[in-house]
Amino acid sequence: MHRLARLSARLGLDLWIKRDDLTGFAMGGNKGRKLEYLIADALASGADTVVGCGSLQSNFVRQLAAACAMAGLSCVAVVMRLPFDAAMGKPDGLAPGSGGNALLDRLFGAELRLVPDGPWEELYDRAEAAALELERGGCRVYRIPIGGSSPLGAYAFAQAAVEVGEEFDAIVTASSSGSTHAGLASAFAGSGTRVIGIACDPEPDLKDEIADLAERLVDLEPSLRVPGELELRQDSVGAGYGVASPEGMAALRLMAHSEGIVLDPIYSAKAFAGLLRLAEAGELRGKVLFWHTGGTPALLAFSEEIVELGAG
Ligand SMILES: *Cc1c(COP(=O)(O)O)cnc(C)c1O
Repeated sequence: MHRLARLSARLGLDLWIKRDDLTGFAMGGNKGRKLEYLIADALASGADTVVGCGSLQSNFVRQLAAACAMAGLSCVAVVMRLPFDAAMGKPDGLAPGSGGNALLDRLFGAELRLVPDGPWEELYDRAEAAALELERGGCRVYRIPIGGSSPLGAYAFAQAAVEVGEEFDAIVTASSSGSTHAGLASAFAGSGTRVIGIACDPEPDLKDEIADLAERLVDLEPSLRVPGELELRQDSVGAGYGVASPEGMAALRLMAHSEGIVLDPIYSAKAFAGLLRLAEAGELRGKVLFWHTGGTPALLAFSEEIVELGAG
């Protein structure tokens, strides 16, 4: 965790950054924390194979693949290039190709099963079909939730809060499958630290899902508290999940130009764009922590035109 001097001066805040992009595990990111608990659960269940799903540029699948390699588990991931919300349809916008996380998944020995794009529900159905097929073949399968978002995954982020203490007025983080936000919000419930999630997903019921996850986390760990009203901003999603937004790319360039720190177009850039929006609206003050959730390998799966998106 360190201070961002140039951005602090520019925004009139005391702005800090939490470097979960530099956790050191399989090129970093927030999913390593969740996998510490989820892989232990998989091993305790006696599984020999983990089945997961996500987008082709999923950071979760990348860190899952590495964690399975370390634990001696087989990893099968069912992926779509661009899964989407059924009601909203497939978003227009600059989407990543292969390379990036997809390259790393294969390097870590995961079996990627690429299926045609469709709604999230279809992706979950296909992952379940793969799990059943592997079980028929004699594998002992552990089904891992999307993005690692179960009460155990959220527990990892309640634990992460201990590293930060209560010195901040606000923490701003990207939010998508929800356990990062749920864990932090539960850990800081009733404290002087606001936890603000910036949605990278357009789903209208995301906030309810995060609230539900936080309740189930408190069932698992009763020393935590169910947060009151969650703060989730859904105005920086852009055209939809998985595609770059001009506002996010402007934020990504600003972070790179002013601090030499790289964000990713799908999550952390949108989260930082959300932080900039809040700062401009005068909704942030004092000491603020931007939680960098990682994702940088996905940046390298975009074509170079990404650099100019939203410029000028
Ligand atoms: C998964 C992910 C998020 C979102 O975290 P959730 O716990 O799924 O809400 C944010 N940033 C990056 C880089 C991610 O890979």
